[in-house]
Amino acid sequence: MLRITMPDPQQSRSRHSAQTRVAIIGGGYTGAIIAFHLANRSHESVDQIAIFEPRASLGAGLAYSTDDASLRLNVAAHRMRAVPGDPGAFSSWLEATGRLSIDVASITSGGTFARRRDFGAFMDSLLQPKVETGQIRHVREQLVRLDRKSNEWILTGDKGTVVTADVVVIATGHAPSKIPDQVPARLVGTKRCIGAAEIAESQIDANEHVLIVGAGLTSLDALASLRSRHHKGQISILSRTGLLPRKQAGGDFTPFGDFDLERPTAREVLKRIRHLVQQVTDQGMPWQSVMDALRHQGQPLWMRMQASEQARVLRHLRRWYEVHRFRMPPQIEALLREENNLPTLSFITGHLKSVRMPEDKICVEIKGAKPSAVQKLQVDRIVVATGPDQKNVLDYQGFLKDLATSGTLQPDSLGLGIACDKHCRAISRGGRPQASLMIAGPLTRGTFGEITGVPEIAAQATCIVETILRTTVRPVRIIEISTHD
Ligand SMILES: Cc1cc2nc3c(=O)[nH]c(=O)nc-3n(C[C@H](O)[C@H](O)[C@H](O)COP(=O)(O)OP(=O)(O)OC[C@H]3O[C@@H](n4cnc5c(N)ncnc54)[C@H](O)[C@@H]3O)c2cc1C
Repeated sequence: MLRITMPDPQQSRSRHSAQTRVAIIGGGYTGAIIAFHLANRSHESVDQIAIFEPRASLGAGLAYSTDDASLRLNVAAHRMRAVPGDPGAFSSWLEATGRLSIDVASITSGGTFARRRDFGAFMDSLLQPKVETGQIRHVREQLVRLDRKSNEWILTGDKGTVVTADVVVIATGHAPSKIPDQVPARLVGTKRCIGAAEIAESQIDANEHVLIVGAGLTSLDALASLRSRHHKGQISILSRTGLLPRKQAGGDFTPFGDFDLERPTAREVLKRIRHLVQQVTDQGMPWQSVMDALRHQGQPLWMRMQASEQARVLRHLRRWYEVHRFRMPPQIEALLREENNLPTLSFITGHLKSVRMPEDKICVEIKGAKPSAVQKLQVDRIVVATGPDQKNVLDYQGFLKDLATSGTLQPDSLGLGIACDKHCRAISRGGRPQASLMIAGPLTRGTFGEITGVPEIAAQATCIVETILRTTVRPVRIIEISTHD
């Protein structure tokens, strides 16, 4: 028997090489961990890993590029599990680099809640050596065009760099927060209305009355940021629902509960949560253990749900889920405890009705739950802390808009991100998954549900790398020729 190994003509590409060129758009945590894992796994089958990211370092992105020392991770370091195959890498790095002795406030009874910027530095320490050795090419540009020509992708950066690739991964992450429609453009232009991320470089007087719009973790970060700058003035926090992120459980605990529902509905999931919380409370365990179990099993649970039930979850349970899932770090909890006794912090429940600035003060009308309840407020500054604008992921980027217009991409049916299949392959408007165009990170929320935190993204990065290696490296076929007759 003679065995001949040759490329499969059905699968062969126009390039005369068995090596794959991969380009990643976005070098926040998602893009960076994919590049890192790919560089470790690919050996000889990938001959290019290029990553477009205008920021100086890879891995920090929106969440971890802040210089503000008051901003902390909202999960303990040992739960970050950032590196596939090495879940304790971040904790070990914190110890090895002596960060814990510099930042003693990070150590709490619930674990180490490190500074966000330290996580950014950790990611940089993983990626930088690979950039220096040329394993990863960091193109410090904003990608402005993505074109398909003769089975290849042509990527063009805003400074003119052109990269050709066989596979592209879109990891552009979070869209900027949306400025509420009620806020006149003049206030944005004059910086009287700013995004939460702009606090550090803004000129806010210590005595100003600041209205923070939004009451999630970004809002509490804004509060911490202002107080760390010795802001003495009134801070009002506006919440649509009146719900605030819950606190972490002290001590160590393991996730508890089984969400293996066959055909889950929103109602059934809620019922199961209540039942399990009752069970753990009776046993003296924290309710947080149930929410962590729900988080861990969140993806398969979400993917088993019918679209109508997913929509019901978003309509009725989303805010409730978010405040229990995205919990505040103990340092913020301590700050709130202190502030609760002071008249300089107030919480308001309602919606922005109108915002005007007839003279020097900003006049805000807030509509409460009852139709007659309209509260009037005079403030000096508005800080928008409503979190990333998930509805706007395709519109705020020219190249994504172009891909959507041509039908190469489409938003997912729930409007949470970009449509992709369970292997993260982008689904075109015609419904076809595209092996050479992948979507990663929070942009895949519509398909996976729970895909915001580092551990979930790390696990997804592993799957994406496996898919790239499995499906794009040119396969061979073996032809067997009998030599006996
Ligand atoms: C404020 C905040 C705090 C968080 N804290 C935690 C935490 O404590 N623990 C946890 O597990 N998770 C946390 N998360 C969640 C989490 O880690 C994020 O979901 C994660 O950062 C997602 O990374 P990303 O790379 O997908 O997106 P992003 O961080 O948004 O990064 C996207 C990157 O893409 C780049 N980019 C965008 N468009 C282009 C383009 N056209 N060309 C080139 N580059 C482009 C941007 O410059 C950016 O750097 C936090 C998230 C936020 C927003």
